[in-house]
Amino acid sequence: MTDTDCIFCKIVAGDIPSTKVLETDRVLAFRDLHPKAPTHVLVIPKEHYRDTAALAAADPELAGAVLHAAAEVAAAEGVAEDGWRLLANTGANGGQEVFHVHFHVFGGKPLGRMLS
Ligand code: C5P
Repeated sequence: MTDTDCIFCKIVAGDIPSTKVLETDRVLAFRDLHPKAPTHVLVIPKEHYRDTAALAAADPELAGAVLHAAAEVAAAEGVAEDGWRLLANTGANGGQEVFHVHFHVFGGKPLGRMLS
């Protein structure tokens, strides 16, 4: 499943360049264009689902594969030991701007607490 207007589908297809850090048959991880931390990688399923809820409902196995890839990215980036953050903005109030589900992997510095 792809969406011809989706920027991340175009990255998966290779029509828009990206800096890939991990690729499997169903998952792609690439560096965010506007990094907010020393490590800032986006992990996405290659198939198009608009958000976390749609992915989890349609294909829980793929959702698990994306989470597994995120942990592999953290390890490969060398941030696993010191800690990292996984973030999935979901929907308008969640701050989601690109409606192809993606998980941000942040690390490489103290990220502070979001909730206190
Ligand atoms: O979670 P949200 O939808 O707000 O974030 C989208 C992210 O996708 C942003 O961090 C933006 O920098 C990134 N992006 C990118 N490459 C693009 C378009 C967006 O890394 N071509």
